[in-house]
Amino acid sequence: MSTADIAPALWAKMRGSYLAAVSGDTELRAINAIARSGKATHLETQRLAARLAEITSESLTRSIFPDTLPNGCFYYNIGQRTVIPLIGMSHDLTMSTASLIQAVLNKNTGIGLKAVTPPLNSGVVNGILNQLTNAGDDYTKILSILGEPVRNTIAHFGNDFVKANADFQRRAGLQPQIERQAHGSKTCAWCRGLVWSGDYGDEPADFYRKHDYCRCTVLFTPSKDGNVKQNAHSKKWV
Ligand SMILES: [Zn+2]
Repeated sequence: MSTADIAPALWAKMRGSYLAAVSGDTELRAINAIARSGKATHLETQRLAARLAEITSESLTRSIFPDTLPNGCFYYNIGQRTVIPLIGMSHDLTMSTASLIQAVLNKNTGIGLKAVTPPLNSGVVNGILNQLTNAGDDYTKILSILGEPVRNTIAHFGNDFVKANADFQRRAGLQPQIERQAHGSKTCAWCRGLVWSGDYGDEPADFYRKHDYCRCTVLFTPSKDGNVKQNAHSKKWV
């Protein structure tokens, strides 16, 4: 048992692992190249959030061992200085690239609005810290909380961005178009029931929600009048 403050060393380890993974990741590089080319849609935003979710979770779980945690516990004040800032880094990266994509989509639609960036949902991240605290010295439980709950929180940043910007444009008198697509090998009946596209504001309840392991995405295309150009071959919005 140690009484030393482990948070600074743990943070340095997690941050180092995260930055190395982000800079060397081929998927992130491909997404950023599409974003910079001006041809991205919010599918790239969702891919980015999903990939950062994986990297963040891996950086957290790889950095902790039972004998390095004081009394084997992931105390709240340790999480505040490690888990929250790492999730915050993924939030910043998602929002900056999503804003770049939004700016191009707006420009291409002749919309003179800026992107809006929703803040990190402090209630959700505090919920993760509470779960970690409640796990006590159960190392398996601690690892599982740093798995899917962390991944799901970060993957959700894509939906948060889409919703905030669609809402902002709707209030500006435009008619943004939104769409939910089902993805993943475990697409369930609940998610298949939420596949929908149309005017922002008409979407069904739970449209932006993601259950554990859900890989479904919400997309958004700006529009002044509700009309969105369709690709005749793919029937996808372009
Ligand atoms: Zn789903």
